[in-house]
Amino acid sequence: MVVGSLRAKLRKELGDNEHEADWIIAHVTKMSQEEFIKNPRDITEEEYNEIMEITARRSMGEPLQYILGETEFMGLTFKVDDNVLIPRQDTETLVETVIKKIKDKNVRVLDIGTGSGCVGISIAKLCPNAEVTMLDYSEAVLDVAEENAKLNDVNVNLIKCDILEEIPEGKFDVIVSNPPYIETDTIFSLDNIVARYEPPEALDGGFDGLMFYQRIAELAPEIMDDNSFLAVEIGYNQAEAVTEILDEAEFSAIKVIEDPCENERVITAKYKSSLFSDLIP
Ligand code: GLN
Repeated sequence: MVVGSLRAKLRKELGDNEHEADWIIAHVTKMSQEEFIKNPRDITEEEYNEIMEITARRSMGEPLQYILGETEFMGLTFKVDDNVLIPRQDTETLVETVIKKIKDKNVRVLDIGTGSGCVGISIAKLCPNAEVTMLDYSEAVLDVAEENAKLNDVNVNLIKCDILEEIPEGKFDVIVSNPPYIETDTIFSLDNIVARYEPPEALDGGFDGLMFYQRIAELAPEIMDDNSFLAVEIGYNQAEAVTEILDEAEFSAIKVIEDPCENERVITAKYKSSLFSDLIP
C-alpha cells in the first residue's frame, strides 16, 4: 500500500483525531511528515501491521503519546509512560514565562513536581546558565525525568521529595511548578478520560484543587530567598484563589498571565521582595 491511501484510511478510522494519522505514519516509517508527503513510498507489511495496531489502540481512547512512548514539548522530544502526565502545550506558557524572566542569568531553578521533566529540562536547555533542580515524589517518575534529561543532553539535579511531607533542601532563585490542580471529585467523575489513562497523582490537587499552591506558599520561607521568583501554572478558574494564597504568604508583584487561547494560565510573583524596600536605606 502506498502512503497516500494509507493516510486516507487512517484519517477515517481516527475520526476526531484524524490529524494524528501523519504522526503515526511518521513514527513507524521513521520518515518526517514532510518527507512522506513529498516522496510517498510503499509501506512494508511490517510497518502496515504496526500502524494498524497503534490505530486500533488509539481508537479505544488510549492517548497516542503513551502508545508511541514520546511527545514533543517546546520543540524538544520527551519520553513518556503512564507514570507521568503527558506534557501539554498549555504548559509552554509557563516555561516561556520563566525563560523570559531569567534569560542568561546564573540562577538556581527548582521545578516542583517535574513529572516527565518537560518544564525543568526545557528551561535547562534554553537557559544554559541556569542550574536546574527537579523534584518529584516517586522513583518511577524520576526515572522518566532522568531519561529525558539524557535524551535532551542537559545536566540537571534530580531529587526525590514528597513536598506534602518533606521540605526540599536548598534555596532557589526561581521556583517553577505545574502542580496537580484538579479537584479530587472532578478527577474521579467517570467520564473523565484524562484520569482513565494519566496518573491521578499528577492531577489531584485535593478537594479544592489548591493543595499544592498552599504547600508551596508554606514552603516559601524555607526554599526561597527575598526576591526569589515564583511561576506556577493554574487551572482556568483558579487565578483569584491562588492570588489570595500568595498574597497572604508575603508574596508581592503577583501577576496573572494568559496563554495564547486567552485562558488565565500562569501566576508569577516575587517572594517578599520590595514590601519595605523603600523604607530601608
Ligand atoms: N511538570 C510536569 C508537566 O508539566 C508534570 C506536571 C504534573 O504531574 N502535574 O507536565
